[in-house]
Amino acid sequence: MVLDLTSLISGKVSTLDFEYELDTQSEDNPIIAPDDVSFAQSVKVRGTLTDTAGYITLEATAELDYTSRCARCLEDIFGKFVLQFNRTVAISGTLQDEDNDSFVIVKNGKLDIDRELVEDLLLEFPSRLLCKEECAGLCPKCGKNLNFGPCDCPKKKEIDPRLAIFAKLLEND
Ligand SMILES: [Zn+2]
Ligand SMILES: [Zn+2]
Repeated sequence: MVLDLTSLISGKVSTLDFEYELDTQSEDNPIIAPDDVSFAQSVKVRGTLTDTAGYITLEATAELDYTSRCARCLEDIFGKFVLQFNRTVAISGTLQDEDNDSFVIVKNGKLDIDRELVEDLLLEFPSRLLCKEECAGLCPKCGKNLNFGPCDCPKKKEIDPRLAIFAKLLEND
């Protein structure tokens, strides 16, 4: 989406609200979800551009509905990921380094943030999704989903594999 900033740059207005939907399945520029994740058709983008004493700031949020599976218990997840996207707007040609990530560049009064927004969205999207923070996962022996209650396997103290690494380190100390 290309935003027209001329009224803001000329000083006619001091803030500019915008809202649009980004198509995740557009033919020229599809947004590829990570493995095991599907993105909803559209990302809702909403934001404000503000002229603050000579420079323009951009504050936006992008909301993306997704479906996936819990990394622990493998149950389906329907979630919403919300990205905060804040940048300073710079006029093309005034920056030494236009690849600087804290800026977005306006050319001829027009601003297109989609590329940067999608980059951030994919970068910040959680790499490990859980159905809930305290998901109990599956029993490693019988495979029962322990969120629905304990299984009948004999109880032996299982060490979390991530902690086992530390236990080993301590042993070698
Ligand atoms: Zn789970
Ligand atoms: Zn079990």
